[in-house]
Amino acid sequence: MRLLEERIVRDGKVRDGNVLKVDCFLNHQMDIQFFGEMAKEFYSLFQDDNISKILTIEASGIGIACITAQVFNCPVIFAKKSKTKNIAGDVYTAKVESFTHGGTYDIIVSKEFLKPSDRVLIIDDFLANGSALSGLSSLVKDAGATLVGAGIAIEKAFQHGGDVLREQGLRIESLARIKSMENGKIEFC
Ligand code: 5GP
Repeated sequence: MRLLEERIVRDGKVRDGNVLKVDCFLNHQMDIQFFGEMAKEFYSLFQDDNISKILTIEASGIGIACITAQVFNCPVIFAKKSKTKNIAGDVYTAKVESFTHGGTYDIIVSKEFLKPSDRVLIIDDFLANGSALSGLSSLVKDAGATLVGAGIAIEKAFQHGGDVLREQGLRIESLARIKSMENGKIEFC
């Protein structure tokens, strides 16, 4: 998506550890008008897939997932990050490694909101090593629901999480794919 690439070049800041900061329109301040443009793009990619639920992960996926869900006219579920050791049996759970903060945490979704009849589209802001997407996928599988695919705003393709998950058969559509960001210079695939 040309608009997103231009916005990343204009407003993105490359930080140590292969982190791209896009706080001024995506991760902190949110440009809702722009989210609407990204949502339309996701809709054009997945409109024939009978999506019944959008799934994302707290916190930074929630904004874009909500605006996308308006276009699809379906609910959003966000997987919660849980610190609780003894998780009750009424939730699906998976482990995720945090790219930005390090360490591992559990994510949970209540069984009440994810059913075998659901056709799920995962939406997230970033795809890096693929741990978040892989954890979300496993929640969908545990629920016996159909995972239609994943819509990602920014994929850092040089980190290969997307390659691994695509090889496993997951349909991933990323609106911007970054090939490299060496020395602060962002290049797209
Ligand atoms: P993964 O699990 O694919 O390694 O990382 C995906 C998650 O880490 C996303 O949900 C996102 O919140 C965060 N993330 C990964 N890379 C970046 C980055 O370069 N910038 C920002 N702001 N978040 C990132």
